Amino acid sequence: MLISNRKTRMLLHGLIFLAIVLPLAAQGIPPNPPPAQSASARSADTAALSREALVWLAQLIQINTTNPPGNEQAAAKYIVGILEKEGITPELLEVAPGRSALVARLRSSAISDPSRALLLVAHMDVVGAERARWSVDPFGAVMKDGYIYGRGALDDKSMLAANLATFVALKRSNARLNRDVIFLATTDEEAGGEAGIKTLIARNWDKFAAGYAINEGGEVVAKNGKVQYVAVQASEKVSINVAVIAKGPSGHASIPTKDNAVVHLAAAVAKIGSYPAPVHFTAVVRRYFEGLAAVSDDEIAKWLRSVESADRGEHAQRVISETNPEWGAMMHDTIAPTMLSGGVRANVIPGEARATLNIRLLPGDTIDVLLGALTKLVSDPQVRFEVQPNAGLAAPNSSLESDFYGVINKVASQDFGGVPVLPYQSPWATDSSQLRLHNVQAYGLWPFPVTDADLKRMHGDDERLPVASFNKGIEVLLHIVSEFAVNK
Ligand SMILES: [Zn+2]
Repeated sequence: MLISNRKTRMLLHGLIFLAIVLPLAAQGIPPNPPPAQSASARSADTAALSREALVWLAQLIQINTTNPPGNEQAAAKYIVGILEKEGITPELLEVAPGRSALVARLRSSAISDPSRALLLVAHMDVVGAERARWSVDPFGAVMKDGYIYGRGALDDKSMLAANLATFVALKRSNARLNRDVIFLATTDEEAGGEAGIKTLIARNWDKFAAGYAINEGGEVVAKNGKVQYVAVQASEKVSINVAVIAKGPSGHASIPTKDNAVVHLAAAVAKIGSYPAPVHFTAVVRRYFEGLAAVSDDEIAKWLRSVESADRGEHAQRVISETNPEWGAMMHDTIAPTMLSGGVRANVIPGEARATLNIRLLPGDTIDVLLGALTKLVSDPQVRFEVQPNAGLAAPNSSLESDFYGVINKVASQDFGGVPVLPYQSPWATDSSQLRLHNVQAYGLWPFPVTDADLKRMHGDDERLPVASFNKGIEVLLHIVSEFAVNK
């Protein structure tokens, strides 16, 4: 049974590969042409590279790296094949059985200077896909209507393929580098990086120590076919899970009492769910809102500029949180109750009931202060809080004054037609926080222009990326890395 299933899958995999990837590669035709905006000399140079990278992206999507279990070693071995053909010798870093990261280096000189090195990082694992809810096979890398569909098309195999393309292009060009450029493909990002970046740093830091990094985490925001602005992630919120535990006497459900743990838990969760955590602004968010105001319509711009004003700040905060909940999440710690459990039988009052809160702290805030406020709010001796293992760590933000941020700012703006580049604090976590804790100036530059609607498919159904955006992203990434790392 198992064997025949596997055979069927392998056969299907082969057929899909033949049907989709080979014809595109053989014909050398991307499903849709790059937009007029990118019709520069450079885009002509990178057109052939993008076509190759599209095949890599498709094949990486077809390697199922759903985490758990991850199985990133298969993707890592595939990348080894590509790099070895280019005369680059990568190294696999085994993190767990079947799970290997990959590192490769282009040297600028015989002796490395880690503080100058630039790290191109992307993760190989993906979140699961509910096949029945997709219109195409999530691991088929189907090309349709100018898009490539598949789990990882946005997060993060497109970045992985673009990093790979940039790295290979640098090698092929024989450019004289002024700093080492390191390619790193990581494991286990989607599960928090215990079997990924954290272990890699603990065991293998010397193999990829760098002063600067490019990673996922930013956005190129497009609307009505035009890029609005580029958001470069320089900071991120910190994810921490907290259990809310209510206790009470267990007993027969026919004789209920007031100290029922389920009732106390429900009351606590209701209060927590509507708790307005205090608003404050980090330097990154302040700069982001200022920049955003410049590209927003007058009404929104007015409120964005008023969020800290003494008289109408509070109203402004409400207006912009309602306009875009993500902007709201940038201004304060957030608390999302996500799981409930309690009880063993319908007619037994349980002695304990639990809820899980997923908390996202602003960088600089501490969980102790927030839990102190929640304890006061709930004010119930039957209820206590317990911080769960694997809490995220707060990292300093990456500098907005570094040379590299300057290069990203200049090149990204220029390549996307003069749009503003804004520093961005993401509500989600990436591998960058671990890098920042090791003094890396890490920037989330996800260089593919996408609409909000497409971005929402990340981790969702029918995840897809416009092929034209993929091509453009490669062109911009290569331009940024060349500007920073190649001697002129
Ligand atoms: Zn990701």
